[in-house]
Amino acid sequence: MTARAVVVGGGPAGLMAAEALAAAGVSVDLYDAMPSVGRKFLLAGKGGLNLTHSEPLEPFIGRYGAAHERVARWLEALSPQALRDWAKGLGVDTFVGSSGRVFPTDMKAAPLLRAWLHRLRASGVRLHMRHRWLGWSEAGLRFDSPIGEVIVPADATVLALGGASWARLGPMAPGCRCWRTAAWPSRRCGHRTAVSTWRAGAITCARSSPARR
Ligand SMILES: Cc1cc2nc3c(=O)[nH]c(=O)nc-3n(C[C@H](O)[C@H](O)[C@H](O)COP(=O)(O)OP(=O)(O)OC[C@H]3O[C@@H](n4cnc5c(N)ncnc54)[C@H](O)[C@@H]3O)c2cc1C
Repeated sequence: MTARAVVVGGGPAGLMAAEALAAAGVSVDLYDAMPSVGRKFLLAGKGGLNLTHSEPLEPFIGRYGAAHERVARWLEALSPQALRDWAKGLGVDTFVGSSGRVFPTDMKAAPLLRAWLHRLRASGVRLHMRHRWLGWSEAGLRFDSPIGEVIVPADATVLALGGASWARLGPMAPGCRCWRTAAWPSRRCGHRTAVSTWRAGAITCARSSPARR
């Protein structure tokens, strides 16, 4: 049986997670509270959309200070050049600015997002807008949707809820009920939860199906 993953959050982190899961043969449903995905990403496009930096990997990684070892592992999986190749694969060429920063040639986010969503849908990813994640019940994830509360079962969950800045673009405010629920679901339902990032401004975590003992 095909595993079913739910991704919550349709910013670049959630879209990337959905793409990786779909490429691995997982059935993916992505939910976002807003009427459309990538709102902050589109806003970033107004500033030209700085995708990455062109400097060699070693000094680039060094810029992450105390987090450099962790970030190095991510950049091994998706290097700045791999990111440029990924954009190229979506039909978006990039260039290196005078500061060494890398931008799409047209300095816009919309064409990249459009092509990305097209490819995600073609790979079978299903997008569900206007679904605000509320937490978990025994049966699955709880969403507030246009038809009321719905429960969605999943074998694995990726939370990619973004940071708390620019709340009108979708991210939820820190301290809301979802954050607490996300931090301690395992006590209630026995699901394994790995919180990979939980800072004052952001939570990104992955949850697998109930632990098999
Ligand atoms: C003005 C501006 C310019 C920027 N310029 C750049 C730049 O040039 N280069 C760069 O790399 N970055 C830039 N950024 C930062 C970049 O936009 C963010 O780092 C990026 O969007 C974070 O992606 P994310 O997927 O983690 O979160 P977000 O993009 O914030 O996505 C989170 C998603 O989760 C959804 N969500 C949240 N809570 C819930 C819930 N309970 N239920 C359902 N859905 C939920 C939100 O609706 C949202 O769609 C800029 C940001 C701003 C504001």
